[in-house]
Amino acid sequence: MSEFDRNVVRAQEYLKRFRGKTVSHLIGGKHESGNGATFETLSPVDNSVLAKVARGTRAEIDRAAEAGKRAFASWRKTSGEKRRDIMHQIADAIEARAEEIALVECMDTGQPIRYMSKAALRGAENFRFYADRAPEAADGLSLPTGTHLNYTIREPIGPVGVITPWNTPFMLSTWKIAPALAAGCTVVHKPAEWSPLTASLLAEIALEAGLPAGVLNVVHGFGEDAGRALTEHPDIKAIGFVGETTTGSAIMAQGSQTLKRVHFELGGKNPVIVFDDADLERALDAVLFMIYSLNGERCTSSSRALVHASIYKEFSAKAAERVKKIRVGHPLDPGTEIGPLIHPRHVEKVLSYVDAARSAGATVAAGGIRSSLGDNYVEPTLYTGAHNSMKIAQEEIFGPVLTMIPFADEQEALSIANDVRYGLTAYIWTRDVGRAHRVAQSVEAGMVWVNSENVRHLPTPFGGVKNSGIGRDGGDYSFDFYMETKNIAIALGDHKISRLGV
Ligand code: NAD
Repeated sequence: MSEFDRNVVRAQEYLKRFRGKTVSHLIGGKHESGNGATFETLSPVDNSVLAKVARGTRAEIDRAAEAGKRAFASWRKTSGEKRRDIMHQIADAIEARAEEIALVECMDTGQPIRYMSKAALRGAENFRFYADRAPEAADGLSLPTGTHLNYTIREPIGPVGVITPWNTPFMLSTWKIAPALAAGCTVVHKPAEWSPLTASLLAEIALEAGLPAGVLNVVHGFGEDAGRALTEHPDIKAIGFVGETTTGSAIMAQGSQTLKRVHFELGGKNPVIVFDDADLERALDAVLFMIYSLNGERCTSSSRALVHASIYKEFSAKAAERVKKIRVGHPLDPGTEIGPLIHPRHVEKVLSYVDAARSAGATVAAGGIRSSLGDNYVEPTLYTGAHNSMKIAQEEIFGPVLTMIPFADEQEALSIANDVRYGLTAYIWTRDVGRAHRVAQSVEAGMVWVNSENVRHLPTPFGGVKNSGIGRDGGDYSFDFYMETKNIAIALGDHKISRLGV
């Protein structure tokens, strides 16, 4: 049996538990389907129904927030060492079910197994990383004066809401939930409605691994009802959100009445700048990988390649040749490099840019069409001869679509790079050290990689500027979001107190 066939058989076994049943919420440690309303999650492979999912509303969010509030009273008092041990047990359990998580994720998102096989393991790594930091999460500073000892401590902010998108849901959820739990917060998670299955697996795994009931709650449902209710709930003290920029704006407005603290990881239109002195072979590999991996449904994708005019013709020709050879296929086939896109509505959006590109004068150097494999399969697309003012250079397409733009010199490269409303990541390819630093410091982005693809190191800050986000994840930065810093001042003696009314 080929590995592909084996994956298909195994995936069907894992999906059996969802078929014909309603995927439930997990509230206060209990699986429940709430009001009985459901929605369907489709497999991008053929748009068949994978499962019915409970459709939560304000009532379920209210119960989940109540459960989170009750559990917070004891979870915040649970020692950091105990929280660490439980989180390591969760990581062990994730690893033990890594194959199940990976295959279910592929079938629910359309992401190729070559990337998803590691998604569960990366999720486990996120749990381990923050487990080890749980004992020091409350640490603060000593700020003494002659008369007082000032010291700070950090306290968990309270029950928090986590709202996640559909592109790589398992990995992204752990990235938000693990630091919240390590900080001592409890969580109500509202996963994306287009790929909800692995969120249920995570909550179930955490509960079975020993996380007390109510510490992690999951409410499925749509953004406009369950999501909205979560952001408006008075007992939810903060919202960690990953998704579109426009949704971030809506959440900020919805949370304003309850003065919600927000952390936003939003969209991107990230530039990769290739100078003519770069290692062009490696640069080409990285340019292609960073946009065509994960179906291009990746916030950090290099969706705009800015290429030095002197090498533009050759570089774009080589890129087109490679793009045409990228293998589109079934997500469970280990040979597949691009799988089906998440949903017919998303396919429509991605393909809507082809006419816009042509009529603006760009060249469709590869792709621009549906693949013959099925409705959600799109051929990897490369637009060349583009200008930065075109829609294909300004808007986040969030698919396997690269826009290639020439530039004359360093100054022009920078001004094109910065001429978008987003600022998540930037990638720079050059052998000139001075130029690498100059451009890295002037480009408007939260994260910059030089001569590198996106290699994540968990202690480093992750986040964007401009319309790409607010706040940073990673290392201790996450604790700044999930915790409040309290200053305590102790008088060391009889400092002078002015006497009034004597
Ligand atoms: P989306 O904004 O449509 O949805 C994200 C989540 O928000 C979903 O769970 C949805 O139900 C919920 N939601 C929608 N409306 C809401 C509302 N009014 N109130 C509360 N919740 C609401 O995003 P998507 O289409 O699922 O994901 C794609 C987007 O996510 C892209 O823009 C991508 O760049 C971004 N993204 C960013 C990062 C990052 O780290 N910066 C990572 C991954 C994805």
